[in-house]
Amino acid sequence: MPDNRCAELKAVTTVKHPKQRECDECVPIGAEWVHLRTCQTCGSTLCCDSSPNRHASKHARASHHPVIASAEPGERWLYCYPHDATVEY
Ligand SMILES: [Zn+2]
Ligand SMILES: [Zn+2]
Ligand SMILES: [Zn+2]
Repeated sequence: MPDNRCAELKAVTTVKHPKQRECDECVPIGAEWVHLRTCQTCGSTLCCDSSPNRHASKHARASHHPVIASAEPGERWLYCYPHDATVEY
C-alpha cells in the first residue's frame, strides 16, 4: 500500500491551495497548459504532465519537492513523485 509507506504524503497536514489559476512558469513565456498542480513544499502552481511544458514534474525533479496537489476545482488529491503514490483528502 503506497500511502502506508509514503512519509511525504503523511507529512502534508495542511494542503496548500493555488494562489492563482495560472502556471507560474508558463505565464512569463506565453505557453499554455492543460491542468494545474500546486507544490506542497513551496506553494508554486505549475502545469501537469498533459501540458506541453510539464512544469510541475520538472520542478519536482529539479527542486526535490516530492508532493503536489491538484489545483483543479473539485479535485482533492495529493501525489508523491518518489513513490508514484496518490491519496485523496
Ligand atoms: Zn512518498
Ligand atoms: Zn507550465
Ligand atoms: Zn516546490
